Amino acid sequence: MKSTLKNNKNDPMHSKGWAYHMSPRCLAKTRSGSPCMSPRTKKPDGTYNSRCRMHGGAKGSGPKIGNSNALKTGEHTKVAIKWRESERRNIKEIHNFLNFVIATNDYLADQKNTVRRIIKKASAGSI
Ligand SMILES: [Zn+2]
Repeated sequence: MKSTLKNNKNDPMHSKGWAYHMSPRCLAKTRSGSPCMSPRTKKPDGTYNSRCRMHGGAKGSGPKIGNSNALKTGEHTKVAIKWRESERRNIKEIHNFLNFVIATNDYLADQKNTVRRIIKKASAGSI
């Protein structure tokens, strides 16, 4: 059985002209020193990457230049972080002012727990 398959032109493993056999090779240097003979991966446009599925880091591969992949919502941009910090400072100032008003006003001092609850509810979830 083995001898009939050997050098058989109909054996798909040894046929020439198939897309797999005709595709360009990776040729990355393997750990044994020989070039990698795996086929290069195909891009969606039909052209080939310069390396196979196992070898990366070829010229022209890798992430996009800049921070374009990381930017999704803009929530963590410098501007957004600074804006939130300033809003927190403003809210803190308002709380301090309202606490001052409560402390100096006799009527509100009696109702301070109610007023504090209203303030907490108003600012909850805003920043
Ligand atoms: Zn390879």
